[in-house]
Amino acid sequence: MSDPLESDGHDAPIFAADAFRLTPFQSELINKARRFGRRVLAPRAAHYDREAIFPSENFRDMHGEGLLAVCIPKEEGGLGADFATYCIAAAELGRYCGATALSWNMHVCSTLWSGSLADDLPMTPSDRATHSERRREHYRRILDHGAVYAQPFSEGGAAAAGVVAFGTEARPVAGGFLVNGKKIFASLSGAADYYGVLCTERAEGTAASRRNTLYLAIPARAEGVSVVGDWDPLGMRGTVSRTLLLKDVFVSEQEMLMPRGVYFEAATRWPHMFLTLSPTYMGLAQAAYDFTVRYLRGEMAGTPPVKRRMYPTKQIAVAEMQIMLEQTKALWFQAISEACPNPTKQQVLRAYAAQYTVMENANAIAAKALRTCGGQAMLKSLALERIYRDSRCGSLMLPWTAEICLDRIGREALYEPGEKDD
Ligand SMILES: Cc1cc2nc3c(=O)[nH]c(=O)nc-3n(C[C@H](O)[C@H](O)[C@H](O)COP(=O)(O)OP(=O)(O)OC[C@H]3O[C@@H](n4cnc5c(N)ncnc54)[C@H](O)[C@@H]3O)c2cc1C
Repeated sequence: MSDPLESDGHDAPIFAADAFRLTPFQSELINKARRFGRRVLAPRAAHYDREAIFPSENFRDMHGEGLLAVCIPKEEGGLGADFATYCIAAAELGRYCGATALSWNMHVCSTLWSGSLADDLPMTPSDRATHSERRREHYRRILDHGAVYAQPFSEGGAAAAGVVAFGTEARPVAGGFLVNGKKIFASLSGAADYYGVLCTERAEGTAASRRNTLYLAIPARAEGVSVVGDWDPLGMRGTVSRTLLLKDVFVSEQEMLMPRGVYFEAATRWPHMFLTLSPTYMGLAQAAYDFTVRYLRGEMAGTPPVKRRMYPTKQIAVAEMQIMLEQTKALWFQAISEACPNPTKQQVLRAYAAQYTVMENANAIAAKALRTCGGQAMLKSLALERIYRDSRCGSLMLPWTAEICLDRIGREALYEPGEKDD
């Protein structure tokens, strides 16, 4: 039976299976994500945006679809998506609800980073065995109970940019750690079951070092955890990224999402891990383009069937958007496809370039969509103005903001490691 949601010929996959040589599994997963996004996420997106509330219902439904376990290995009961497969599926969700896709990313990273990514990193056999045991417990929580993990790293200083050690500290105590600190922009705050917090392990009298970064799953109900502040931002309103306070929170060592030292190795050897914020914005770029085509053809639900496609200026604008979209897709697909441990210098430069391009172009395409479609298209009854506001957030997100990407591309292209000018 044909899918009635596709009968109008719109919403083809962003990355067509034949053109991008997707595997059957990738193709199946993006179709699942796309149908779910269109059927479930799209109709609810305006409500979560308007109220700035977390899309809990979406997460319950994603659990039902197996999507909370997208990066949990198949042999553990998940869907078993690797990095690139996850990215293209996340882009499909981003088309329909940016805030849900971005929040989903925070959750998924807890399994992707502790899963296939950690498998690529050096560990002692004993650390690897302990890690496998511990992450199985996280998998079970997600698979059996639909547990949701957040990813609050940002502190308002230079730590989230990877420049200095995190100010949130974990003091080793019997059986675990006492954690103290503050995280800003904690997406999923108040909604997550666990906060995947990056902090610095610091024993009495030792100096703080990035090498001692710990990645801990802090139970939301643990004593000493609180969420404060309001949340009334420009875009990505459904992420509910309030401030998380941690005051003498005891965290068992079982809650380590990575063994000691492994997060530092990941950040150094697997830099594409920081590209995981970009799929949402790849989806938003596509959404802005799709909106424009549908609107100019007079086929936008909820608006009169007025065609505007016959004006040459509209045609030129759509051509420019299409070119920008294809450039963005091509670079981004290349970058996510070559993600691997110990990438070459060119691969890293390309990853920065892809992140920069997606984050900047998503908003540029959305801005052009608004100008091209015109005044009626910016009404809140339509999705475009939300897409525009959500897309503005991408280039602000650490550690790879648009500015930092530019900064690094320039520096790393001109200097080899350790090189200095006299
Ligand atoms: C919708 C949304 C959701 C978010 N969700 C999360 C989340 O779940 N978890 C989380 O950890 N964070 C999250 N963030 C936070 C985000 O990653 C940034 O930490 C936050 O936007 C930084 O804001 P700031 O003003 O404190 O940045 P600042 O640190 O003040 O930086 C301001 C700008 O200066 C530039 N800059 C900063 N450091 C450097 C440097 N070393 N070199 C060159 N340039 C630099 C960057 O371009 C940066 O954008 C979210 C942000 C948004 C907008």
